[in-house]
Amino acid sequence: MNSERIYIFDTTLRDGEQAPGASLNEVEKLQIAKALAKLNVDIIEAGFPYSSKGDFSAVKRIASEVEGPIICGLARANIADIESAAKALEPAKKRRIHTFIGSSDIHLKYKLNMTKDECLKRAVSAVSLAKSFTEDVEFSPEDASRSDYAFLFELLTAAIEAGATTINIPDTVGYSIPEEFAKLITEIKKNVKNINKAIISVHCHNDLGLAVANSFAGILNGARQVECAINGMGERAGNCALEEIVMILNTRKENLAFYTNINTKNIIQTSSLISTLSGFPVQKNKAIVGENAFAHESGIHQDGVLKHKETYEIINPETVGIKASSLPLGRRSGKHALKVRLEELSYNFDTEEIEQIYIKFKEIADKKKIIKDQDLISILGEKEREAISEKIFNLEKLQIASGSGLPIAAIEIRKLDDNTILRAAEIGTGPVDAIYKCIKKLIDITGELMEYNVHSVTEGIDAQATVMVRINHNNKIYNGHGLDTDILLASAKAYLNALDKLYAEK
Ligand SMILES: [Zn+2]
Repeated sequence: MNSERIYIFDTTLRDGEQAPGASLNEVEKLQIAKALAKLNVDIIEAGFPYSSKGDFSAVKRIASEVEGPIICGLARANIADIESAAKALEPAKKRRIHTFIGSSDIHLKYKLNMTKDECLKRAVSAVSLAKSFTEDVEFSPEDASRSDYAFLFELLTAAIEAGATTINIPDTVGYSIPEEFAKLITEIKKNVKNINKAIISVHCHNDLGLAVANSFAGILNGARQVECAINGMGERAGNCALEEIVMILNTRKENLAFYTNINTKNIIQTSSLISTLSGFPVQKNKAIVGENAFAHESGIHQDGVLKHKETYEIINPETVGIKASSLPLGRRSGKHALKVRLEELSYNFDTEEIEQIYIKFKEIADKKKIIKDQDLISILGEKEREAISEKIFNLEKLQIASGSGLPIAAIEIRKLDDNTILRAAEIGTGPVDAIYKCIKKLIDITGELMEYNVHSVTEGIDAQATVMVRINHNNKIYNGHGLDTDILLASAKAYLNALDKLYAEK
């Protein structure tokens, strides 16, 4: 059976970044784009350049520094948007402009105040303009699944005629069901007479939990590109999860005859990087990348898996980057053991990097007996964050007195830009509140705390805690992370990490 290629269009940095509460700065976006290139996605939608200066600059930087995938920028069907996208994408070796316009009656009437005829003309001139900057042009009729089909076919035919090489069919509001979406793709193949000149793409939202199912139905009926995001990030309930659609095609390849060029062994590490940087924890029972996705709890299942893996396991965990641990790492483990373990987890570091990671490893190993894979991934996440965010505030000392009396915190912070020491003590409603009051007293620009989350990295009383905070300063969200076996130290570090990012922008 001849396998057909499915192109993976990743929109974690565009649609994913539009998720409520997500906010990534430029260096974080660059870091993610590099991870996506290692994962070997075909297209990276890096942002919406016209939407803000920050987006423009991030897309431009990714276009200059990330090699491998096609770099794509989103643009509404107007001159300013398309010119801005073209400018941001200029440094890219391979670039794509993705232009869109609403095509459903609801969008035409209430959002665009446009007739079908005007919409068609706008689409054609947008595609032609984009085509003057790059051969590779994608066109999306927004809200396609709720559009009048006859008009949709006419619009798509005209867009392909004008030069669109990819036609993307979005289920913008996540309303479609697989059978219906399959029919839409089939009808497009049948009624758009020049459809063989373009690749059909699908972009499904998860409002009814059907994003992956609808995308899959699209593939079965002729779509050859899927727009998706790591961990299913995206507007509202999110997008089709990249790891799920890729692993459906991979696991059932014998029955389906489709393949992608994704390096599946990088799935877990990419998922974990994006989860930490965006501050969106992955739900425990999430397919493929959830902590429990490969855990067998019941005795019957454990017994079966031990006797023969395939009794209860349809995916070999190694395929997505998890390797069954041979020997647990601990305080006495050396650099070589650490290096080997990291390689088993698909991370390759040079000697110098191993030295740096080993310092952090020892710090944790002195407090914790056994270092698990999740601990290592957290240490790496911490290292990556430190490498990309400019550190201004360093937590030097923290003393807490809490209990049934008055929770008191005393803190010492070193301001690294002018090497000053800041000290304060405060009473709070609890120890975290007392710490944050101290920080607010010492640092002039702070934000309002919007979210505070503690997550234990592994099970056990000596587990490391990651604390994630989101602060709001002048309506902009900054997130911060802290990692420590002491939850209060992690809390202080997380708040300072968010302030580092805020200061870096000032
Ligand atoms: Zn979307």
